[in-house]
Amino acid sequence: MNLVWLRTDLRLFDNPALYLACQTGQGTRVVYCATPQQWQEHHEAPAKLGLRSQLLTNIQQRLHQLGISFEVIRADRFNDLPELIFEYCQKHQISDLWFNSEIPHNERLRDQQITQHLHTADIVCHPCENEFIVPQAQLRTQQGGVYKVFTPWYRLWLNRLAQHPVELFPEPAAQGAPIASPTHPIELPGSDTYRHDLWPGTESAAFECLQKFCNERLHHYIERRDFPGIHGTSILSPYLASGAISPRHCVQLIQETHAHYGTDWLEDPWLRELAWREFYRYLMLNFPSLSRDQPFKPETRFLLWEDNAQLVEAWKLGKTGFPIIDAAMRQLHQTGWMHNRLRMLTASFFTKLLLEDWHIGESYFMSQLIDGDFPSNNGGWQWSASTGCDASPWFRVFNPVRQSEKFDSDGSFIRKFVPELGELDSKSIHNPPEKLRKCLGYPQPIIDYKDARERVLTRFENLKAMNLT
Ligand SMILES: Cc1cc2nc3c(=O)[nH]c(=O)nc-3n(C[C@H](O)[C@H](O)[C@H](O)COP(=O)(O)OP(=O)(O)OC[C@H]3O[C@@H](n4cnc5c(N)ncnc54)[C@H](O)[C@@H]3O)c2cc1C
Repeated sequence: MNLVWLRTDLRLFDNPALYLACQTGQGTRVVYCATPQQWQEHHEAPAKLGLRSQLLTNIQQRLHQLGISFEVIRADRFNDLPELIFEYCQKHQISDLWFNSEIPHNERLRDQQITQHLHTADIVCHPCENEFIVPQAQLRTQQGGVYKVFTPWYRLWLNRLAQHPVELFPEPAAQGAPIASPTHPIELPGSDTYRHDLWPGTESAAFECLQKFCNERLHHYIERRDFPGIHGTSILSPYLASGAISPRHCVQLIQETHAHYGTDWLEDPWLRELAWREFYRYLMLNFPSLSRDQPFKPETRFLLWEDNAQLVEAWKLGKTGFPIIDAAMRQLHQTGWMHNRLRMLTASFFTKLLLEDWHIGESYFMSQLIDGDFPSNNGGWQWSASTGCDASPWFRVFNPVRQSEKFDSDGSFIRKFVPELGELDSKSIHNPPEKLRKCLGYPQPIIDYKDARERVLTRFENLKAMNLT
C-alpha cells in the first residue's frame, strides 16, 4: 500500500508523487499534515490557510470519488511528524511513502528525519521533483558552479527548456469504488475567511484563471504589468503558492497561446516572471543560509537599521502619509494580495526610507499574504533591501511620489484603497497639500524623502568603507 503526503502541491493534475504512486497499482491513500505551531513560526497568513482549507476540501471530495482515501493528520510542529507518519504507516500497512520535495531548510530537514525514521521499518520513501520547470541540477556555470545572477542563469534555463519541452503528469485513474466524503468542510487551524470571489478554492478555478489570463491578457502583459490600477497581471500567485496549479502547466498554456498566434513562446515576458520564481527557489536550495535569515551578501549583516516601532506601525497600517504606499498596504489587508510594483515600492520604502530591518517587513508580508511563498518573499525583500543576490543597486531609492505619478497617473488605484482622498484631482492625489490632509483626516508624511534618502546612502557608503567584501 502507498501513502502520498500532500504539501504545497494541492492538485490532482500534474502531481508527480500522486500520479506515480497510483501507477504502481498497489493501492494508495493520501494525507495532508496540519502543523499549526510550525505555521505560526513561519508566519503563515490566515487567508492563505483559508484558501488551503477550501482546496483540501475539494481535493478530499475528488480523491474519494476516485476511491482514494484522504485524511488530515494533526500535529503541532514538523518534529512531531516522523512518529505520527510512522504510526499511520503501521496502522494501514504502508510500504511506500511518496511526496513532492520542498525547498526551504526546515522542510528538507523534516523530510530527512522522516525518511530515516521510516527506513528503520523498511518503509521506502520516494521524494519526487516538483518545484522546478527545468531541473535545477542542469543549471550550472561552465565551471560547474552555482549561478548568482539571474540573466545568465535565465539564458541557460531557456536553452534547456527549448531542448526539453515540459511534460505534465495526468490525473490519477480511479483506484477503487467511490468513498463517501464527510459533509463538513476541512478547516485548518489558524485559517480565516478570505476573498473567495477572487480565488475560489478549487483546482478547476485555478485552471480557469490561468486559461482566461492566457486567452485575454497574456499578449498585453508587457504593457500592462506595471500598473496596479489595471488588471494586467495573472493574479495566479495564490494558486501557484498553494500548488493548485503547477508552473509547468503555465508553461504549457504559454506554448499553446503562442502556437495559436504564431509567435515565439520563448520570448514571452510572462515566462520570465515564472523564471524569477524558479530562480529564487534555485538560490534557496543552493544557499541554505537564505532559509536561516541570512542576507545573501554577508557584509550587509553590519548595516545599521533604525528601530522605530511607531514608524513600522504606521507602515503596517497604511498610514504613512504617502498615498501610494498606504493604498498598497490597504490592498494587502483587504485582499491578502499586493501588486508586484507595489511590493517593490512598499519594501523599498520600509528598508531604504524608514531604514527598518528587512526581516521585519519580510515576516509581516508573510503574515498577511494569501500567496506567501518563502523563496519569492525572501528574494523580493532582499532585492529591495539591496542585501540579496542580483539585488537592486543600493543607491536606487524609489521616490514614492514620482512612482505614484508614473504608475497610477490618474490616481484610480489610490482612490480605490484610500477613499478619504477620493475627491482629489489626479495631480494632488499623489502628494496632497498639508492643509488638505488636515481637512480630510489623512496623515502628514512620516518622513522627509530627501533627508531619508541621504541617510540611507550614507549608511551604505559607511558599510562600503568598512571594506568587508
Ligand atoms: C517584497 C516582495 C515580496 C514578494 N513576496 C512574494 C510572495 O510571498 N509570493 C509570491 O508568489 N510572490 C512574491 N513576490 C513576487 C511578485 O510580487 C508576485 O509573485 C506577483 O505580484 C504575483 O502577482 P501575479 O500572480 O499577478 O503575477 P504575474 O505577474 O502574473 O506573474 C506570474 C507568476 O510569476 C511569479 N512571479 C512574478 N513575479 C515574480 C517575482 N518578482 N519574484 C518571484 N516570482 C514572481 C509568481 O508566481 C506569479 O504568480 C514578492 C515580490 C516582492 C518585491
